[in-house]
Amino acid sequence: MTRLREQVLSLIWQSHRPLGAYDILDSLNADGRKAAPPTVYRTLDFLQRMGLVHRIASLNAFVGCTQPSHHHSGCFLICETCHNVLELPSSSIRNAIEGEARKQGFAPRETVVEVTGLCPACKDDGPTNE
Ligand SMILES: [Zn+2]
Ligand SMILES: [Zn+2]
Repeated sequence: MTRLREQVLSLIWQSHRPLGAYDILDSLNADGRKAAPPTVYRTLDFLQRMGLVHRIASLNAFVGCTQPSHHHSGCFLICETCHNVLELPSSSIRNAIEGEARKQGFAPRETVVEVTGLCPACKDDGPTNE
């Protein structure tokens, strides 16, 4: 793995919330790296293909994968208040969706489930504390 890939991966892992490509670019350049956006996008593509990070489409941001050892599509719980993302390790949800798709004669390539709502910490805070 190249140094840039390592740096991008560690930025994503160190972050408590999903990072956008430009957040990553800013952090790299703050380190004096002078990375260009296409380079960062290529690196993110690569890390995604390796199954090391997931893209959260609704946030246009990236999170580290909790189970990088096997290829899978993710199911994510996204907090609307603090933007924390939790990856559900269960594959039963994806299997159910892909099973239904196949019944329609559809060949699913990738299934990503994004559930928005409130994480335990934000839910306990109550809506008045926002
Ligand atoms: Zn994952
Ligand atoms: Zn939250």
